[in-house]
Amino acid sequence: MTTLPQIAPLADGTVPPHGSTYYSALRQFDQAAAFLGLDPGTRAFLRHPRRELTVNFPVLMDDGSLRMFTGIRVHHSTIRGPSKGGIRFHPQVDLNDVRALAMWMTWKCAVVNIPYGGAKGGVVVDPALLSERELCALTRRYTTEMMLMFGPESDIPAPDVNTNPQVMAWIMDTYSMQKGYSVPAVVTGKPLEVGGSLGRLEATGRGVTCCILEALRARKQRVQDTTVAVQGFGNVGSVAAALLAERGAKIVAVADISGGVTRATGLDIPALKAYARAHGQRVAGFPGGDALTNAELLAFDADVLVLAAMENQVHDANAQAVRARIIAEGANGPTTPDADVILEENDCLVIPDILCNAGGVTVSYFEWVQGLQAHFWSEEEINHRLERIMTDAYAEVMDEARRRRIAPRMAAQTLAINRVAAAAKLRGIYP
Ligand code: GLU
Repeated sequence: MTTLPQIAPLADGTVPPHGSTYYSALRQFDQAAAFLGLDPGTRAFLRHPRRELTVNFPVLMDDGSLRMFTGIRVHHSTIRGPSKGGIRFHPQVDLNDVRALAMWMTWKCAVVNIPYGGAKGGVVVDPALLSERELCALTRRYTTEMMLMFGPESDIPAPDVNTNPQVMAWIMDTYSMQKGYSVPAVVTGKPLEVGGSLGRLEATGRGVTCCILEALRARKQRVQDTTVAVQGFGNVGSVAAALLAERGAKIVAVADISGGVTRATGLDIPALKAYARAHGQRVAGFPGGDALTNAELLAFDADVLVLAAMENQVHDANAQAVRARIIAEGANGPTTPDADVILEENDCLVIPDILCNAGGVTVSYFEWVQGLQAHFWSEEEINHRLERIMTDAYAEVMDEARRRRIAPRMAAQTLAINRVAAAAKLRGIYP
């Protein structure tokens, strides 16, 4: 029997369970910090979230009843700037997961070198079961409870799983009403009409595409000769699929929580998008392909596998079945550390989440800067700047991996942790 890798307890004495998202984040950090030879004090400092707030709040439902909801916000780090990160509405939101996601935001912002720390938040709820009015009330009350945390100079939320520009507009409005004046820079991913940025909605998928194109270029593989399987067809997966298809790649399989579809000659992505829009954002049953399961998708014989759904999708029990040569992590934490070991042995290139999906927060940064200056850029300028940041970060991570003979995830983590550790050292420990 193999022994499970141990990780050190946190300051409160707890150790997150093996296989959990927080375990993954801490194990990745511990490996990178050990590799860097980071001193024990700095290591402990960067390993812990700075502050956390859990709130329980009432929402008046449409039927007149009162229901309690739990909301969370974690600031992992504010060392390099205000904390930044999305808010998810999901029944499985839990404090340890949010801690992990907040920590990954710190590294993500450092990998692409934008002046932010990391945060994440969420509400335990399935928004599909709420009416529009209930969702609005829940968002406004959560925002009010989070006035202690949010602020354009302290903590800037954004969309994540099951949240969208409309939810961001409600956050912006609620925060602004509390202050008595409009504060567009308190949140990013807003609709254009209230200070959003052109290109923000597509930014994560565009960044994922950018990384895949760089990986193919390095392998001298033509996009037109490339097949792609995509897990998740939300804001990230659908945009990456569309952009890759536009470039000539064949999207041979797509799956989401409803099931999947496959077509050897390539799925018609605009038609699939229209079908999903008309069927509750689900791809199952799309007439332009044959049905396939999520397990079949992960093991699909395609050149590239885009993981744009949720955490912990590729793990020790299914990593061996992966046949793609390149995995692009559009989601946060879709591959566990155990799976990483197997994929590396099998010579599969994993473009790590903190690099691969950093396009979203990069354009969030552009949105924040534009909001603070009340001066807006063209879509062309935004996409150009985004592509430059993504290709530069991709090159930096891959050079580091080659130079130090480490996996790209470890390279991305070490680059990021080094940047945060350098800032921590310069700032010093208060008082
Ligand atoms: N939720 C996205 C992420 O995980 C975007 C965060 C942001 O724009 O602040 O990167």
